[in-house]
Amino acid sequence: MPTSKPGRTPNRKIRFSYWHVVMLMIALTFLRPLVGSIFTGAPTDLSYSEFKSAVRSNRVQDAVIAADRIDGTFRDGGSYRTVRVDDPTLLPALEEFNVNIRGRAANPLLGWILPLLVMVSLSFWMMRRMRGGGMGGGGGLGGIFSFSKSKARMTEGEQSGVTFEDIGGAGEAVTDLQEITEFLKNPEHFQRLGGKMPKGVLLVGPPGTGKTLLAKATAGEAGVPFFSLSGAEFVEMFVGVGASRVRDLFQQAKKKAPAIIFIDEIDAIGGRRGSAAGFSANDEREQTLNQLLAEMDGFQPTTGLMMIAATNRPEVLDAALLRPGRFDRRVVVGLPDLTGRLEILKIHTRTITLAPDVELENLARITPGFSGADVANVINEAALLASRDGKDAVASADFDSAIERVIAGSERRTRAMNEKEKRVVAAHEAGHALAAALLPNVDPVHKVSIIPRGNALGYTWQRPVEDRYLMGQEELQDRLVVLLGGRAAEKLVFSEVSTGASDDLARATDLARRMVTEYGMSEDLGPVRLAADTQAQYLGASGHLDASVSADTAARVDNETARIVNDALEKALSLLTTNRGSLDTLTRLLSEQETVNGAEIESILTGGVLPTS
Ligand code: ATP
Repeated sequence: MPTSKPGRTPNRKIRFSYWHVVMLMIALTFLRPLVGSIFTGAPTDLSYSEFKSAVRSNRVQDAVIAADRIDGTFRDGGSYRTVRVDDPTLLPALEEFNVNIRGRAANPLLGWILPLLVMVSLSFWMMRRMRGGGMGGGGGLGGIFSFSKSKARMTEGEQSGVTFEDIGGAGEAVTDLQEITEFLKNPEHFQRLGGKMPKGVLLVGPPGTGKTLLAKATAGEAGVPFFSLSGAEFVEMFVGVGASRVRDLFQQAKKKAPAIIFIDEIDAIGGRRGSAAGFSANDEREQTLNQLLAEMDGFQPTTGLMMIAATNRPEVLDAALLRPGRFDRRVVVGLPDLTGRLEILKIHTRTITLAPDVELENLARITPGFSGADVANVINEAALLASRDGKDAVASADFDSAIERVIAGSERRTRAMNEKEKRVVAAHEAGHALAAALLPNVDPVHKVSIIPRGNALGYTWQRPVEDRYLMGQEELQDRLVVLLGGRAAEKLVFSEVSTGASDDLARATDLARRMVTEYGMSEDLGPVRLAADTQAQYLGASGHLDASVSADTAARVDNETARIVNDALEKALSLLTTNRGSLDTLTRLLSEQETVNGAEIESILTGGVLPTS
C-alpha cells in the first residue's frame, strides 16, 4: 500500500482556471451593493408615493435613476431606495425641488457579459469533455459527459471461455482465423521474411451464423483480450462522439495489446460515404468512419492489434474500408450444411439430457436453411417444452414442436375461427398438402394443420429429405403448383376465393419473377439476366429489374411472370379436380382433428383405412 512521507505536506498546486475568474466575477457582482451598504448604512425602503411626497416636501437631496429603481440620499442624511414607475410627472417635480438627478446604465456585467461568459465556458467545457480531455475541476460531473468514451466491453482472452471447439460447421472460416491466432501468439514467425500480417478481417454472412462467436473464439484461442462493440454504439446524437469513441477504443486496446477489437454490424458506420446530401446524421457517421480509417492506418501490424468486423450487408460498405491495409481479408461465414448443423447440434446438446429416441442426424436433416442461432434456439425451445411438461429428458417430439415453433411461430389456439372460416382454412391447407403429396419433385408432407401459428391460420409442413443447392425448372414449377394448391382448393370447394392466399401469391409471384429475370427460364425472354445486381445473393435478396431494362422488356417480364403463375394455378386446379375425393376427405379430416400427418395423407391417397370421427 502506498504511504505518504511524514513531515511533508503533499505538493498540491493550486491551479487557476477561467472557472475561478467566472466565479469571482459572479461573486463581485452580487456582493458589490452589500459592500456599499456597509459604509452608507442600510437605505430606507420607500413606497413610490412616499418617495414622491418626500420630493414635494423638499427632503430629497439626490436621485439616481436606474432602469427599475431609484435610490439616493435625503437632505438631512440617510439614504433611501424605491421602485421606479412609469410617471411622466416625476422629472418636472425633481427639477422643481432642485433634486440632483443622475442616471445609471444597466450593469453590463449582469446584463450580457456574464451570461455570455457562462455560455462560452460551458460549451468549451463540453467540447473538451467530448474530445475525452476533461478539465480540472470538472471531475465531479465527469459521468454525465462520459458519452465520448468507448462503450466497448472487454473480455480477457483466457476468460472468454470460447474456443474453436465450440463452433460447428464453419470449418473454412475457422482455418482462416486460425492463422490470425497464430500471428497474435507468435508475430515474429510470420514477419521473419518481411511479410506483413493483415490488420483487419471482415466476417461476412447472414445473421446468426456465429460471426460474433468466431471472433470471440479467435481471442480465446490466442489468449488475448477481446474488445467488442457494435457499429450502432458509436453513433450518438452529438456530432463528434463516434469519432471520439473510436479514438478511445483504440487507446484502450493498444494498452492491452496484443488484443482483438471486434466491431459487430460495421455497416452502421462503414456504409458508403457521401451517399446522402446535406448536413445530416450521415456527417456524424462519416466522421466516425474517417476516424476508424485513420486509426487503422495509424497502428503498425507489429503492435499486435487485430481488427475483426462483422456484417451481413457487405455490399453497402465503403470501398476505403476494404482496401489493403484495412479489412482486406474477407471470411465468408455461410449457413451451415447438413454436417455443419449436426456439429452444431452436438455442441449445443452437450449439456442437455436427451431421450433415447432423439436422433441428431435426423434433426440435422430436417432443418435445412437454419442458421447456427436457429439450431441453438430449437434445442433451447425443446428443452423448455420438455421441462414444462415435467419430463426427465428431451424427446424427439419436443424437438418436432420446437422446430415447428421456429418455422411457423407459436401456436395460437386462442385465435377463434368460426365454422365457415375453419372449413375454408381446412380446404386451403388440404389443397397445399395434396399437391405436395402428389407431385414428384417436391419435399414430402410431414404434417398439415389448421391450428393458427404466428400470422398464419394454418400451415403445411414439408420436410426436406436433403440439402439442395441446385434446382431444375420442373422442381420450381412443382413448387409453384404447391403454393397455388390452397387457392385452387378454395376455388373448387367453395367456388370463390378468400384473402387467405395472399402470402402464397406473394411467394409464387416472387419465385416466378426470379425464374424469368434471374434463372433465364422464360422461353419468351430467353437466357438473359434482367434483375438488378444485388451482390447479396447469399442473403436471398430478391432483385429488382436492372436499370438498363427497357420499358418494353419490363412489360414482357410482367407478362411472363403472370403466365407462369397462371399456368401453375391451372395445373393445381386440374390436379385437385382429378383427386377431388381425396381433397374432400382430407378437408373433412382436418376440420375434425385439426392436424393430419404425412402417413394419414398417404392412406387417403391410396384408399387405406382412416380414423373415423
Ligand atoms: P449477427 O449477425 O446477428 O450478429 P452472428 O453471426 O454474430 O449474428 P452469433 O451472435 O455469433 O451470430 O450467434 C448467436 C448464437 O448462435 C451463438 O451464441 C451460438 O449459441 C449460436 N451459433 C451460431 N452459429 C454457431 C455455430 N456455427 N456453432 C455453434 N453455435 C452457433
